[in-house]
Amino acid sequence: MSRLEISIQEFRDIAEKILGIAAEYLESLDARPVFPGSNGDEVNGHFEGELPEKGSGKEALERLVEVVRHCRCQNGRFFGYVLGSGEPIAATADLLASVLNQNVTAWRSGPAAITIERTVVGWLAQAIGCASHTGNLTSGGSAANLMGLAMAREAKLFANERGLRDMPQAVVYASDQVHMSIPKAVALLGIGRANLRIVPSDGECRMIPQELHAAIQEDKKAGRVAAAVVASAGTVNTGAVDPLMKIAEIAHGNDAWFHVDGAYGALAAIAHPDKFAGLQMADSISLDPHKWLYQPLDCGCLLFRDAGVAQAAFSHTGDYARSLSADPVESFAFFEESLELSRRFRALKLWLSLRYHGMAAFREAIQDDLAHAQRLAAAIRRQRELELVEPVTLSAVCFRYRGKHAPDDLNRLNAEILKNVVQRGRVYLSNASLAGTFYLRACFVNHRTKDSDVDAVIREVLAAAKEAVSS
Ligand SMILES: *Cc1c(COP(=O)(O)O)cnc(C)c1O
Repeated sequence: MSRLEISIQEFRDIAEKILGIAAEYLESLDARPVFPGSNGDEVNGHFEGELPEKGSGKEALERLVEVVRHCRCQNGRFFGYVLGSGEPIAATADLLASVLNQNVTAWRSGPAAITIERTVVGWLAQAIGCASHTGNLTSGGSAANLMGLAMAREAKLFANERGLRDMPQAVVYASDQVHMSIPKAVALLGIGRANLRIVPSDGECRMIPQELHAAIQEDKKAGRVAAAVVASAGTVNTGAVDPLMKIAEIAHGNDAWFHVDGAYGALAAIAHPDKFAGLQMADSISLDPHKWLYQPLDCGCLLFRDAGVAQAAFSHTGDYARSLSADPVESFAFFEESLELSRRFRALKLWLSLRYHGMAAFREAIQDDLAHAQRLAAAIRRQRELELVEPVTLSAVCFRYRGKHAPDDLNRLNAEILKNVVQRGRVYLSNASLAGTFYLRACFVNHRTKDSDVDAVIREVLAAAKEAVSS
């Protein structure tokens, strides 16, 4: 017998221990500081160590306590970045997904897993009002954006076979608020970041359609090809939603691919479809259930309107993987429509979580996040020492401390305040930079947040400001 083999009793014992650690973590979540206060040396000391030649058996688990102790904690007062809160039912499904170890490549490799992923992707599409889109789960929004633009490149430039060398210069358009994963994708796809045309946004951080139109006309006149337009729904800084309908018309009117980066915001269409009118006109849409559907990392999603384009972009089947079945269900292969071959059973957690709680519970949680953002915004408006970035469209709230006798360098002061807020350990905020101005930023994609947690933000920021001003 392999020395890696364990008995079922051993599996139960270990799993129970892990479950105990997880339950204790969840039980103590609210009382934990949002940042562990660890320093680099201390964490290195715990985890660097030698590669163990000899196993230590159950003792190996003891260090897990330190893992938990040095984790950033996602209680109801975590408002940093765009990070979902990690729904525990989904987390339990992840253990089963790993035990089952299905490789979600093709139906014959995992009939249940393939079918469940196709089902949940269909549910997501339907839930955001794009029922005729299909797609697949990805590691996140970055991978989904890369794949969406890879589809655009193949649909408009046919570059997979011969590359871009002999092609007319291709241009991708996005607003100045676009997420960094888009320039990254444009670079990786060989389009070149210099060919990412940055379209100005208006006072509410939304792409200006007339500017997009003018930029495309100018490029066309110069012999360049408008390959793709990327709209944000919403932007990672302030949650602004680009005018999707108008942008779709301009994109399609110029034969460009229309991709929507909805990694942060588009799942809010579940609660507020009116904010996302035009979404269904997208050729491809990135979503992140690990953000606004509270799923544990990782769980992203790419939706597309035409699976044929996904196949044109990604299908390059080696003979050893070619499907032998002609049955439309049993011959299905995700690797024909994705850049990934080996794929984790990500759908299981989403499927279990959605069925356990029901869509109504998720819709309510999203509504609560939107309401929490409005609650914080209202509280900021009431504080003369604070300044709010208007409007608050989704659940990202940007603001800064101005004070009564504000020093010239508000950027430096607010950076200091942010550091103090995190160090104080009660609420976790991150920051956003808008036209060179440094803002504190709270983003609500957290099913654990209560009104009292929202109210802690102002209290902590004012206390942190006091510390910063007096030091
Ligand atoms: C988070 C985010 C991404 C990247 O998604 P990952 O899941 O982190 O890879 C892309 N665009 C926007 C708007 C985002 O908020």
